[in-house]
Amino acid sequence: MDNTTNTQKHSVLIIGGGNGGISVAAQLLRKMPGLDIGIIEPSEKHYYQPAWTLVGGGDFDIEKTVRKTRDVLPKKVTWIKKYADTFLPEKNLVITKDGQEISYQYLVVSAGIQINWGWIDGLEETLGKNGVCSNYSFETAPYTFKSLQNFKGGTILFTSPATPVKCGGAPQKIMYLAGDYLRKKDLLSQTNIEFCNAGKVIFGVKKYAETLNKVCERYGVTQNHRHELVSIDGNKKEATFSVTQADGSKSKVVKRFDMIHVTPPQSAPDFISKSPLADANGWIDVDKHTLQHKKHPNVFGLGDVTNTPNAKTGAAIRKQAPVLVANLLEVLNQKTPESQYNGYGSCPLVTGYGKLVLAEFDYDGNVVETFPFNQAKERYSMYLLKKKVLPWLYWNRILKGKA
Ligand SMILES: Cc1cc2nc3c(=O)[nH]c(=O)nc-3n(C[C@H](O)[C@H](O)[C@H](O)COP(=O)(O)OP(=O)(O)OC[C@H]3O[C@@H](n4cnc5c(N)ncnc54)[C@H](O)[C@@H]3O)c2cc1C
Repeated sequence: MDNTTNTQKHSVLIIGGGNGGISVAAQLLRKMPGLDIGIIEPSEKHYYQPAWTLVGGGDFDIEKTVRKTRDVLPKKVTWIKKYADTFLPEKNLVITKDGQEISYQYLVVSAGIQINWGWIDGLEETLGKNGVCSNYSFETAPYTFKSLQNFKGGTILFTSPATPVKCGGAPQKIMYLAGDYLRKKDLLSQTNIEFCNAGKVIFGVKKYAETLNKVCERYGVTQNHRHELVSIDGNKKEATFSVTQADGSKSKVVKRFDMIHVTPPQSAPDFISKSPLADANGWIDVDKHTLQHKKHPNVFGLGDVTNTPNAKTGAAIRKQAPVLVANLLEVLNQKTPESQYNGYGSCPLVTGYGKLVLAEFDYDGNVVETFPFNQAKERYSMYLLKKKVLPWLYWNRILKGKA
């Protein structure tokens, strides 16, 4: 790589070396070993984020969720360790934050979702102390378990915001682990657990919602729907919610807490929203089946950053990556892209230690289960899948383009 020339060129340029970006690079190289691929990725660290739920529950080592980017990038890829900033799709150019121009024939955008801690007044000042925790970052996830260990009874709040989030089930998975932890410690009877959810239901797919409602009963969880966290005062241990009534009117409710797990509001990254590749809501504007950009046929997108209406999960990427790769190669060979993604998303809903409901569904909310048994039932085998099998699969197969 030569950063001194004005314009660097790659046949395929990938924005983001996270789950989506590396999956696509590795799969492309398996199909076309000589392909010239560049990845713009500023971070020296690569994270396996799905395990942060178990880290928060004290059942997974945080250090096993991180590896060096250099060790997970396919060897034949050129790593451009910079921030992508400006897209000029008419000229097939991306400009990095420090002004480097990079041109491409084909562009793949997989820059993930942006966490907006600052959208909740007072959160940044108190996160990581006063019992205010969040599994939504490498730095903060271990404090969730510390808070649980320090908890001696009282009120625990679990929040879920009004924005799209990565892994929509994660805000409640940690709640069930907390409930189970306190049950084992014999503290459940002295604990008030509340799920303060900006949405309207516990889970969008009825089959799984039925099980989850029973799990809530087991841990004595009060479900407060249409409750959006707007501010937090860690010293006073108070959280303020904007509550939407059935008639659409809004009111403020202040709740005292001894511990609170916050799922932060999320959005498309700012550099994506301001780009000509974004839709009106800021997400990369792709066809939801082919993953090809709606205006620029040599641009594709996958993962959390696109406007495809599926659950934003690594599981979705596992189904999106082969579709994107097949379609990109079709376009490269002057053919029409024909592979189709059906909106598959999966949510391994941890419901306690050694208990998991494996939800799997498509764009239309149809249940599309992998195993020949009822996955709405809590199972130990599915917990093992999450704790042992999926992390292994991620590092050894998915990032290597083999799954
Ligand atoms: C607590 C938690 C629990 C989860 N649980 C599950 C689960 O059980 N199952 C599941 O399937 N999924 C789960 N997920 C979701 C899953 O981790 C994400 O959906 C997945 O990582 C998305 O992949 P991505 O490639 O779109 O984004 P990411 O993997 O986040 O990668 C985006 C990359 O873009 C890079 N980037 C950012 N800005 C720039 C820039 N300016 N220029 C270039 N690169 C940039 C970032 O550094 C990053 O490496 C969970 C996530 C969390 C946080």
